[in-house]
Amino acid sequence: MRSILTIHCSKLVHNLNAVKAQLKDGVKVYAVVKDNAYGHGIEGIAKYLAPKVDGFCVARVEEGITLRTIGIQNPILVFELPELEKASWFKEHNLIATVGDINDFDTLVDGTQYHINFDTGMGRLGIPYSQYELAIEKYKSSSQLTCTGIYTHFATADVLDSEGVVSQLARFTEVRKAFPSNIMAHTANTGAIFNYSDLEIQFDAVRPGVCLYGYAPGSTKIDALIPVIEWESHILQTRAVQKGDNIGYGASWVAPEDGYIGTVPVGYSDGIQRRLGGKIQLKVNGKLYPQVGRITMDYIGIFTPTNDFHKGDKVALLNDKELSAEVWAQLNETIPYEVTTALNSRIKRVFKD
Ligand SMILES: *Cc1c(COP(=O)(O)O)cnc(C)c1O
Repeated sequence: MRSILTIHCSKLVHNLNAVKAQLKDGVKVYAVVKDNAYGHGIEGIAKYLAPKVDGFCVARVEEGITLRTIGIQNPILVFELPELEKASWFKEHNLIATVGDINDFDTLVDGTQYHINFDTGMGRLGIPYSQYELAIEKYKSSSQLTCTGIYTHFATADVLDSEGVVSQLARFTEVRKAFPSNIMAHTANTGAIFNYSDLEIQFDAVRPGVCLYGYAPGSTKIDALIPVIEWESHILQTRAVQKGDNIGYGASWVAPEDGYIGTVPVGYSDGIQRRLGGKIQLKVNGKLYPQVGRITMDYIGIFTPTNDFHKGDKVALLNDKELSAEVWAQLNETIPYEVTTALNSRIKRVFKD
């Protein structure tokens, strides 16, 4: 095996408890497990969380079907707008559809349960909040369908003191008042849960995503979270190099002194972005070593001036401390979401208690 991803479920539960500690009494948790649970492995994550959360959210209807296939019985909300040719799948698999466009009322098949997504400022998906009266008319006249919720999504909750959050919340609160109170309302992603718990923002349920996996959504730190993923490979081969030797494609790296290169069998096809070449560190036998040369499709090299590497030595790529996906994200000017969703789904995920 070239590498292995270990998912530490005790840390997942720790993060879930950190979410719950923010919640007012009775607020439900709909865990977001879209995109293969942010790369962690949707089946293992969902099985583990199922008894501990109220519901799940996924991006695509196919992901919802996957959860039903493995026996998940919690409510499952699908974020994507329903496509005509897949419209019958929601009812068939007891999935909650999203109505994010007035036409979606006519797309869904009779007996489908749905939530309405209102666009209160994200400017992406959802019925514009200014058209909420039209949405209410449609909801009232669509008695062949069952509306069980309304929601919105924040554009700027990852930063503190955002006026955008305040104005989106005010718009949603107005919409909420126009719907019967037995229809559940939800707005809060990770940023809203941790950065805006002083506002009346939780309504009936929250939708935590990235925090469950141990990361903050933006540069505002959330100390309570612990990354749940650990990525490990091994030294495949070692090679002595002399000062001045070129290493790898493009001969982009030249040994600054005599030493040894350890080859590790992971590359950009596994999900290490090529632009991280020469920037990251890896850990072998408790010590950090620089990755040198280009990241290639299937291999990377690490350097030591002393003869430290042996074939088969374990090599840590990601962990919950100095090798956090947040470190990679910073080095690559991206966010941890992109780092973990890039991890190729063919890498074996092992779920540990
Ligand atoms: C992805 C997503 C979330 C979760 O966002 P995080 O920042 O990962 O907590 C919540 N709601 C919707 C609609 C989403 O698309």
